Amino acid sequence: MHEFPITQQIIKLAEKHATKLGASRVKSIKLVVGDYSGFVGDSIQMYFDVISEGTLCEGATVEIQRVKPKMKCTGCGELFEREFLSFNCPKCGADGEPTEIGKEFYIESIEIIK
Ligand SMILES: [Zn+2]
Repeated sequence: MHEFPITQQIIKLAEKHATKLGASRVKSIKLVVGDYSGFVGDSIQMYFDVISEGTLCEGATVEIQRVKPKMKCTGCGELFEREFLSFNCPKCGADGEPTEIGKEFYIESIEIIK
């Protein structure tokens, strides 16, 4: 449910951006959402259509690029996707440690129509 306020913020930001550039409306918004960001892309999409009604973002498409979380091997430095119930590096078998990869949440780009 916490996708609701974040979607409101995204729309506000996109509108600000569009207004500043003198656009008539927002065409598309590209988001990068890590699987560990705590946000669900599908929910953002769903809320977007409802909240954007009557704003410059109405009818805009939301593209969501998902990022799979990765671990970093403490042995060889390899970045890898965690297997179920395993934290071990597929290359050398050493333990992996968590990284920031997969926690992303940001607006990559906003496309406008003048
Ligand atoms: Zn390794």
